[in-house]
Amino acid sequence: MNDRREFKKAVKVEIIKRATRPIGDDGLSGTFCEECGSLVRAWEIHHLREDALEVDKSKPLTAEEGALWCKPCHREYTRTHSVPVVAAAKRQEAAHLGAEKPNKAKIARPPKPERPTGKVDQIRALREAKFESLGEVSSRVLAKITPRKDAAE
Ligand SMILES: [Zn+2]
Repeated sequence: MNDRREFKKAVKVEIIKRATRPIGDDGLSGTFCEECGSLVRAWEIHHLREDALEVDKSKPLTAEEGALWCKPCHREYTRTHSVPVVAAAKRQEAAHLGAEKPNKAKIARPPKPERPTGKVDQIRALREAKFESLGEVSSRVLAKITPRKDAAE
């Protein structure tokens, strides 16, 4: 989504002419809001389709894509419709592209080989491997982890 297109001067003139009429049955003449019908001095050109949601913006906007609205109509529509719709579309786009949150997916790694950590683990590993000699490991430590026969009785 990029910047929205604006109406060219000639297109604005076309829209203003469309919204302007000579004295009618109500005795009013001038430019009228194409939304609420009130006579207006200040007006804005409303984009009938949210230009922020348009993908192809290569073509210039036409008079059929715009409407002359009074400021209160335009302000209310923008507040209640345009802003939430465009914000929702931008959130959806961001979520779709994965830009909403930082990528926290973990990279798969092969499992680490199990490794004894403490001295007790080392002794157990040595015992399980049926080493004859426990080398530097003291027999006192070995005694601590060896279940006593009398304790079970
Ligand atoms: Zn209006």
